[in-house]
Amino acid sequence: MSHEGIRIVSAEEARQDAATDKKLPPDAVAPAKVRVHKTEGTGMEIDWKDGHRSSWTFAWLRNACPCATCHEERENSGRRPGEPKPKPQTLLPMYEPPVRPAEVTPVGKYALKFKWTDGHEAGLYSWEYLRRVCQCEACTAKR
Ligand SMILES: [Zn+2]
Ligand SMILES: [Zn+2]
Repeated sequence: MSHEGIRIVSAEEARQDAATDKKLPPDAVAPAKVRVHKTEGTGMEIDWKDGHRSSWTFAWLRNACPCATCHEERENSGRRPGEPKPKPQTLLPMYEPPVRPAEVTPVGKYALKFKWTDGHEAGLYSWEYLRRVCQCEACTAKR
C-alpha cells in the first residue's frame, strides 16, 4: 500500500496514526497554540498540548517542504529537511529576498498549507511532521 495522494484524516485518526507509527503521544502532535509571524517574516512557533514548544524560521520550513517533489529532491541530494540547497558559485552572487509565506491555510485539523513567496505551495505541513522536525535543543539532540 503506497501513500499516493493526500489522505484527509480526522484529527483523531491522525493522532492514532502518530501514536502507533511514530510512537508520539497524542498531546505531542496536537497544537495548543500556533503563531505564524507572517508580517514580521521571521517564522512560526507552536505550543503543543504536552507543554512542548517548537519554533522554526521560514527559511528552514521552506527547505523542509514535505511535498513529494521537494522530498525526493532532498533524498537525491542527501539533504536533511531544513537544509538549504548549496548555492551555485558565481562571481556576483544574486540577492535573493528571504522566502516567507504569502498565505498560510489550515488543512482540516491536521496540517497547515504554506504558499511561499517563491510561488511554491505543494507542501502540507502536518502537525506530526512539524513535531518530528522540532528544532529545539532537546529534540535535535535526540535525533
Ligand atoms: Zn515542496
Ligand atoms: Zn523540541
